Amino acid sequence: MSRSYFSNRRVLVTGGAGFVGSHLVDRLLESGDEVLCVDNLFTGAKANIAHHLNHPRFEFMRHDICFPLFVEVDAIYNLACPASPIHYQHDPVQTTKVSVIGSINMLGLAKRIHVPILQASTSEVYGDPHQHPQTEAYWGNVNPIGLRSCYDEGKRCAETLFFDYHRQHSLNIKVARIFNTYGPRMHPADGRVVSNFIIQALRGDDITIYGDGSQTRSFCYVDDLVDGLIRLMNSPAGITGPINLGNPVEFTIRQLAEIVIEMTGARSKLIEHPLPSDDPMQRRPDISLARDKLDWQPHIALRDGLEKTVSYFRNLLD
Ligand code: NAD
Ligand code: UDP
Ligand code: UDP
Repeated sequence: MSRSYFSNRRVLVTGGAGFVGSHLVDRLLESGDEVLCVDNLFTGAKANIAHHLNHPRFEFMRHDICFPLFVEVDAIYNLACPASPIHYQHDPVQTTKVSVIGSINMLGLAKRIHVPILQASTSEVYGDPHQHPQTEAYWGNVNPIGLRSCYDEGKRCAETLFFDYHRQHSLNIKVARIFNTYGPRMHPADGRVVSNFIIQALRGDDITIYGDGSQTRSFCYVDDLVDGLIRLMNSPAGITGPINLGNPVEFTIRQLAEIVIEMTGARSKLIEHPLPSDDPMQRRPDISLARDKLDWQPHIALRDGLEKTVSYFRNLLD
């Protein structure tokens, strides 16, 4: 049943003015949904959703989900949370609050109006993993008191809350464990490796490799991720996750730097900086479950995704 007499499905996207959220909003509007985007603009930007502000099926509400929210919708995507290490370590207490108190509020909302709710969880719940690649059955190796803990433990607690609301209140939950995602609209100052390397290369600055660059990550283009999130939300109620969403092709950070230099034709030098504490040494998703349950896998190769991302940052810097 739709919450509005005249419209199609009405979908709430928290964090909808952020990097991933704004791409999700684009896709939901394209598919005919009505979208309510709730964001406090802590790391998001109106520019990411500016092209929808006059759209008849789009609504923006500036609101912090750590405070209760009373709205009527048909489904909730809960993405609100700073995601890059620089951003989430800027105000670590607030980071834990948004994952814990924010999730409780969104779960309370979903419970009151009986709608499915999807949580944007993260590969960070695996910490610095001892199992490689990581399957959903792995419980992780997380430091509870380190610099990354506000994010990692906040997201782990959010998963606990989602599963307890599911068991205790029969809520239809969907938990996605998202691995490193990149693409246009990444915040230029978020310090993440893809945006940092591209901006450094385009400016001809040195490329900052933390540690010796042998640590690995697996990079998923944002369009592929959004497709996975939508498939998960639309899957049968029995599919709760947690389910890994990411690209299983793994690169060392040094390889990524070399690819970015080659693609931009930059003359930048690679220089080494100290490795931040608790920086995971390797990360690659096992996506068998997503393949099996959602018939999902990424289609966009790193070089193709980087091309679009480089072009976005080139325009932004111009
Ligand atoms: P982002 O920082 O661009 O987006 C997060 C959005 O949430 C921003 O628009 C921000 O303003 C908003 N926000 C933060 N706190 C809020 C609050 N209290 N109330 C309302 N809005 C709030 O980050 P992103 O990369 O788009 O990440 C989106 C989600 O996906 C996050 O939950 C993140 O943890 C998760 N995730 C992202 C990645 C990735 O690689 N990008 C990987 C794993 C998980
Ligand atoms: N909540 C909300 N919107 C709603 C319903 C609930 O923001 O439409 C918040 C509410 O403020 C509460 C939280 O969600 O703090 C958890 O709600 P729940 O019903 O699970 O718990 P209770 O209200 O019984 O503590
Ligand atoms: N990294 C790097 N140089 C940078 C930014 C990041 O070498 O300028 C490294 C970072 O230490 C980590 C990897 O790249 O090993 C991915 O970092 P990011 O912050 O993008 O994501 P996360 O660590 O959360 O996976």
